[in-house]
Amino acid sequence: MSHVIEAAKSGRAGCRKCKEKIAKDELRFGHEIANDFSDSSYQWYHLKCAAMKVPIPLAEALADCDLDIPDRTEIDQLIAENRKKQKPTTFPYAEVASTGRSSCIVCDGKIDKGALRIAIEREVDAGGFMRRGAGYLHPGCAMNYEEIPDDLMEEVRANSPQLDPAELDEIEAAME
Ligand SMILES: [Zn+2]
Ligand SMILES: [Zn+2]
Repeated sequence: MSHVIEAAKSGRAGCRKCKEKIAKDELRFGHEIANDFSDSSYQWYHLKCAAMKVPIPLAEALADCDLDIPDRTEIDQLIAENRKKQKPTTFPYAEVASTGRSSCIVCDGKIDKGALRIAIEREVDAGGFMRRGAGYLHPGCAMNYEEIPDDLMEEVRANSPQLDPAELDEIEAAME
């Protein structure tokens, strides 16, 4: 993926978050979206709107950007506040359980609301047919799951940018 930050070439594009037009020459964020034709297109945002709506890709683009960004401090702060809300999309990942309803596929025990859990993709029986769905694990149970990839922790780190490094360290420690 290559997202972009650039000065708007025209004043015609609308922001995907606030729906207002992005003024010509104003800095804007282009979130690259792959479409069905294996082509890609951009969804445009004001920088502050992107910080609220798509903080993780914006943070990646800012890291590669050598433009002088006005309100950078405020944008970084919005990213920090909002990245926790962005849900990971690639398995396996780790997250804070938002409810107490999930249970661990290894030990069958409940995973408490607010606890860190690992999500992996697996086949689930959806009433007569199999579909892909998320399965959840206590970090301490992960190594006892039969289909666990060797580099699980590496993948979890890469796929869970919404977690703090301290939370990821806590998961890794629990897995040993
Ligand atoms: Zn906007
Ligand atoms: Zn468990």
